[in-house]
Amino acid sequence: MSEITRYSLTEIKTLLEKKSLTSEEIVSAYQTAYENDNNADIPLNGYIEFFKDARTRASAEDIKRKNNTHGRLSGLPIAVKDNILITGKKATCGSKILEGFSAPYTATVIRRLEKEGAVFLGRTNMDEFAMGSSCEYSQYGPTRNPVNREYVPGGSSGGSAAVVGAFQAPAALGSDTGGSVRLPASFCGLYGLKPGYGTLSRYGLVAYGSSLDQIGIVAHNPADIALLLSVCAGIDSKDSTSRDFSYSDMFPLTPGNLKGLKVALPVQLNGEGNSDSVRKTAAGFIDWLKQQGADVSEISIPNLSYTVAIYYIIAPAEASSNLARYDGIEYGLRNDNGNLLDMYINTRSEGFGSEVKRRIFIGNYVLSSGYYDAYYKKAQAVRSLLTHEFDNIFTDYDIVLSPTSPTPPFKLGEKLDDPVTMYLQDICTIYANLVGIPAISIPAGMSNDNLPIGMQLAGRQGNENLLLSIAQSWKNRGGAA
Ligand code: GLN
Repeated sequence: MSEITRYSLTEIKTLLEKKSLTSEEIVSAYQTAYENDNNADIPLNGYIEFFKDARTRASAEDIKRKNNTHGRLSGLPIAVKDNILITGKKATCGSKILEGFSAPYTATVIRRLEKEGAVFLGRTNMDEFAMGSSCEYSQYGPTRNPVNREYVPGGSSGGSAAVVGAFQAPAALGSDTGGSVRLPASFCGLYGLKPGYGTLSRYGLVAYGSSLDQIGIVAHNPADIALLLSVCAGIDSKDSTSRDFSYSDMFPLTPGNLKGLKVALPVQLNGEGNSDSVRKTAAGFIDWLKQQGADVSEISIPNLSYTVAIYYIIAPAEASSNLARYDGIEYGLRNDNGNLLDMYINTRSEGFGSEVKRRIFIGNYVLSSGYYDAYYKKAQAVRSLLTHEFDNIFTDYDIVLSPTSPTPPFKLGEKLDDPVTMYLQDICTIYANLVGIPAISIPAGMSNDNLPIGMQLAGRQGNENLLLSIAQSWKNRGGAA
């Protein structure tokens, strides 16, 4: 493997500025890494497509740097999940129903990165429409865990985490509706941030659960995430839920001072349900926090016990509405045997995979008259209670801590027959989406089988900087992970 692909995004930035390397050399190294891997016995399958024009774009940035007309991210390579739009590029969301669809416009986040000179390497694999926790529900086959290929990389942004973990990209964009950036980051031994709701514009992110969706970032270190976030965060007239917070001074990232930091440890996410190796890792991480002077207290947040149940009502409800647009008329696949109704039925039956269909069924069920009050309305009421509870918690605490996942990565196929066990994988991550707060997964240890284990820190709205600075202190501690 080429040494070049081992550099972090911020290291690449320095090397390019010092003219020790060109962006074209770097992008070629990633392309070779990807191509070699694709010919291996068990390919990673992290990319659905590696962009053929990436090298040309990189050399255009090399010229801009020579002429001093470059932006802050000039020549920096980034991989992009296949549900974030780039004009003229295909976007399939890992689904057959979007076969042949090319994006007619560019996502705001992409536009901002592109304006500063970022070079997009390719589209990464994902669970179909971001529904899943293992990256096995893709029309393009499963992605594998770069640490051990018999295992899943986590989902739904499994391709994004896998290509970063396998050094086929230094950083990647994913999306996180219930944990889809943090879980793969945790399973692949990386840092993964889900910003607070509204920090990044959702314009051009294909909608799954609109009140929960956020674009997130996966990288080898927190400073790389801070660099990208500082460029793409902020209000956007094309997304009315985006917020007017400025993150432009977030980079360079300074490691946090943890003295006096108030950390809440909810008993609901830190107990018996977690595997032994996860509990051991959590204990080690808590010890480190205490050594740094943080004040860690156990608390009880009773409504945390209901988050999986609430999420699997609200997310499918929103998905059933968002996915109604794939009817064979405007997007991708069309099966037009028969009359108009036949076309709708045939296109959707053929185009959606079984997990997506399950979500559409659940969503329509919980929204239908007679069940709306019993399920959807109740779930929204508990969501409001939970949000209230977290408002109170953040008056007393700075951080809420738990593992990112109750278990280390599992083997391919292990949970495919049992959707509920798959859903339970998100038990620690979902609340941050329901409440709309930022959360980060930090690589914190290894299991007995040498698989990565992540810890999750969640903070107040607008506190991404605090999460990243604590993560950077952890990264700088000079230990394992
Ligand atoms: N695993 C969860 C789901 O299937 C979360 C996915 C996500 O965050 N996009 O819905």
